[in-house]
Amino acid sequence: MLSNEELERYQRQILIIGKNGQELLKHKKVLQVGAGGLGSPLSLYLVSSGIGELILFENDFISLSNLGRQILYNTDDVNKSKGDLAKSYLTRLNPNIKITIINERFTEKTAEIYLKNAQIDYLVDASDNFETKFLINDLGLKYNIPFTIAGIQGFEGQLISVNPHNTACYRCVFGGIPKTDKSKTIPVMSPTCGVVGSLEANEVIKGLLNYGKRITNKLLMLSLDTGDFTIIPIKQNPNCLCANQN
Ligand SMILES: [Zn+2]
Repeated sequence: MLSNEELERYQRQILIIGKNGQELLKHKKVLQVGAGGLGSPLSLYLVSSGIGELILFENDFISLSNLGRQILYNTDDVNKSKGDLAKSYLTRLNPNIKITIINERFTEKTAEIYLKNAQIDYLVDASDNFETKFLINDLGLKYNIPFTIAGIQGFEGQLISVNPHNTACYRCVFGGIPKTDKSKTIPVMSPTCGVVGSLEANEVIKGLLNYGKRITNKLLMLSLDTGDFTIIPIKQNPNCLCANQN
C-alpha cells in the first residue's frame, strides 16, 4: 500500500500510471552501473519516480572536472566518494527508496551475487566504457534481466533497450568491443548527459511497468547539435549470443 506521503509525492505521476502502477514500481529493484554523467540524471529520476530499490555500482571519487556534467555532486564534494555522496543525496531526495551502494568496479565477479540472488528487475548502463557496456549486455542475457545501454560523445547519444533473447542486443548492433584509445578523454557536452540519462530512466520505468513501447529492436541515435532523433531498425543477428536461449 502507498502511504499518504507517497500518494502526495507521486501525485502527478499517479495521474498517468495509476495507484496500481505506482505500487508496482515500489516493488521493483534496479541495478545501475555508474553514477557519473549519465548516472546522475538516471539515478535522480529513478529515485524520484519511486522505484523500490536501487543497487548502484560506483567506486570513483569526485574530481573538479566531473562537475561540468555530473549533476548529482557539488563543488565541496571534490575528492569525496561518489558512492557515499550519491547515497546521501538520493536518500535525501526520497527516503522511501532502499539504496545500496556497491563500492567496487562492476565485473562479472562483483555483480554475480546480485544478479543471481537479488531478483533484479532491470539492469541499466551508465558507464563510460565499452568493456562495461558489453559486460552489462552479456550478463543481462545470461541472467535473463531486461536492460538498457546508452552512450554519449559530444552532442551525440545512442540508446538501445533489450529483452534478453527476444530482441536484438547491443552486440547485434556493435559486434564486439571496438579498439579505442583509452588515454583519450571523450569530449561531451553537459546537456547530452542529461538528455540521454533521462531517456534511460524513462526506458527503465516503462520496462518495470510494462508501459508504452521501449526502444527495442531499434537503435535511437540523437544529435543534439541539430535536434535530430533518428531510429534505426535493428534485427537480431541469428549468430549472436542473444539468439541462443539460456
Ligand atoms: Zn545480439
